[in-house]
Order: sequence, then C-alpha cells, then structure tokens
Amino acid sequence: MSLKYVPYSLELKEPFGTAHGTRTHTDGMVVAIESDGLTGYGEVFMPPYYSENQESMALYFDSVDVSKLLRTESLADRLAYVRSLGPRDYGAKAALDIALHDLDGKRIEEPVATRYSTDERRTSYSTSFTIGVDTVSTMVRKAREAKGFKSLKIKLDGKQDIRVIEAIKEVTDQELLVDANQGWSDLDEALETAHRLIDLGVGLIEQPFKQGEHEKVGALAARCAVPVVADEDIQTIEDIDRLAAFYDGINVKLMKAGGIKPAVKMISRAREKGLKVLIGCMTESSIGISAAAQVAHLADWLDLDGNLLIKNDTCTAVQTVDGYLVLSEAPGIGITDDSNLIRIFN
Ligand SMILES: [Mg+2]
Repeated sequence: MSLKYVPYSLELKEPFGTAHGTRTHTDGMVVAIESDGLTGYGEVFMPPYYSENQESMALYFDSVDVSKLLRTESLADRLAYVRSLGPRDYGAKAALDIALHDLDGKRIEEPVATRYSTDERRTSYSTSFTIGVDTVSTMVRKAREAKGFKSLKIKLDGKQDIRVIEAIKEVTDQELLVDANQGWSDLDEALETAHRLIDLGVGLIEQPFKQGEHEKVGALAARCAVPVVADEDIQTIEDIDRLAAFYDGINVKLMKAGGIKPAVKMISRAREKGLKVLIGCMTESSIGISAAAQVAHLADWLDLDGNLLIKNDTCTAVQTVDGYLVLSEAPGIGITDDSNLIRIFN
C-alpha cells in the first residue's frame, strides 16, 4: 500500500466573489492510495478563511503511518485511524476519507452510495448553481447562462443584496437561495433585507451573520418564513449540538466535516435535532463533488457545483445534465476516466 499526494491548484473559470473577498484559484492537494493494484483518489481544497493550507496538509499526510492502514481491511477501522491523527485538519482528513472510500468501493466493486443507502439506488438529483458576488449586470448575465438549473445559489455581500435579487428575478423564475457568507451585521437591517428578499421569492438564507453571533441568528430565524441555514458556524458534530436551537438547517460539506463518514454522522445528528440539511461544497474538482454525490439522497437541497466553476478538473466522474447530478455506475466514488489523474501523479 502507498499514499501519494500532489499539490494542485484549481483555476476558476471566472473570478469568484463572496462576502469574504474574490479569488481566482483555490490551492489544495490530490491524494492517491494504492493497494493490490487498485487506486483510491481523494482531494482537499479549502478556501483561505479556513486554517488549512498546502503546508499543513503535507504535514498531516506525512503523519500517516501507512502500515497501520494496511493492518486491517475494514474501512471503518481505516477511517477511525485517519480521524485519530490530530484534532483538526478536517480538509486533509476528508481527502483520505474520500480516497479510502473510493479504494474500498473499487475492491468490493460497489459505488460508495450503496454503503449509505438502504433504498434502491437513485442516480439523479437536482442541484443548485452558484453565482458569486460581482456587479449586478454580471450576476444577471450568469443567472441567464444558468437557465438549466432549477435553483440558483446567489452569493450576497451585504451591500447590493436587494438590487441583485430584484434584477435576477426579472430574468428568471428559478428558485433562489442566498448565501450572505457572514456579511450581514445589524439585526434590524438584516430583518428588513431578509423580508424583502423573501417577498421576492428567496427560499433559503445561509450564514447571515459572523460566526458566533447566535443570538442575532436566532432572532432572525424566528421572524423569517424561510429556513436560515448555518455554514461557517457549524463545522463539526459538536457545533450542531451547540447551535441547533438557533438555526433551521445546516450546510454539510465533506471538506468541513472531514469526509464522507463524518458528514453522514453530522447529517444524522442534524436530523435528530430537527434540522434541514443542505449538502454543499467548496471550490472542488469532480473527486470531491462525486464523493459528496454518493450521499446526495440524505439531503433536502444540494449545492454541488464546484467542479463546474473550474477550468482544470482532475477527472471525469459525476456529470451534471440539465441541472441534475447524474451519478455514474463506476465503483467507489464513481470516477469513469482517471487518465488525467494518472498524469497528475506522474
Ligand atoms: Mg456558504
């Protein structure tokens, strides 16, 4: 068995703006775990406002004792070992969790989805498409170009929110979800904005206030007719226990949670607490998106479009057709063509 990792930078097709700022690329790592002639692939890509970078990722991967992974064939034991290495490094852990799931699925010749579903396997799910913060006219142009999607996730910056949604509403009837990325500050202003956005048909508000401003979130959620969903505020299962009372739902991402298995655990805890679940993503390639798509059946909403926003995808796996994610029949996370990955590792 061997573990390899390669630094990789995902280049965005267009600059991507959120209330955190604008970026043109996201740095991370692609990993490959090889065993008995099979290769499982994983990846980690974290935006700069989380405290992981290529150096911390390399340190984490170097801390892995591959002989310990080899000692057992049990996926659960391998994942437990990965999680036991240090308290944080969620993105780096996600990369290994995804690669180990992929490897195990290839070994038993089953898609990962079958491990987490008791029902007959569904292979197609509606996903929203994300529009980053930009000028109003550019955001309207992008909304027009995304006509094939049933819903749009619009990033807000707290400055032009109502103007943006009014303008987009003029060109589309698609469902609109909004993500403030912590960009709202004053509660009364936020309430006013939220009510106007809801009048315009917005169906979900994500992470309105800064991390930790729970009282404000609770006050907003109590007076909004649409779900208010946590993203940056909730990274782990402990965060769910702490914050469930303030939110209506959570955005679960493999990169935040530490991979597929911790994400599934978070979703089941969220359900116990009566929360809605959105499965989202960072700027990721088709590795991360296809891994998340394996548990798409557990969500109320999907926002799995990271691979559509980049120029240099790592592989071919899940496809997006007319706004629907279509899972492949391939085992593991569903990679159907890894020729580019083979080049990346050589
Ligand atoms: Mg978000």
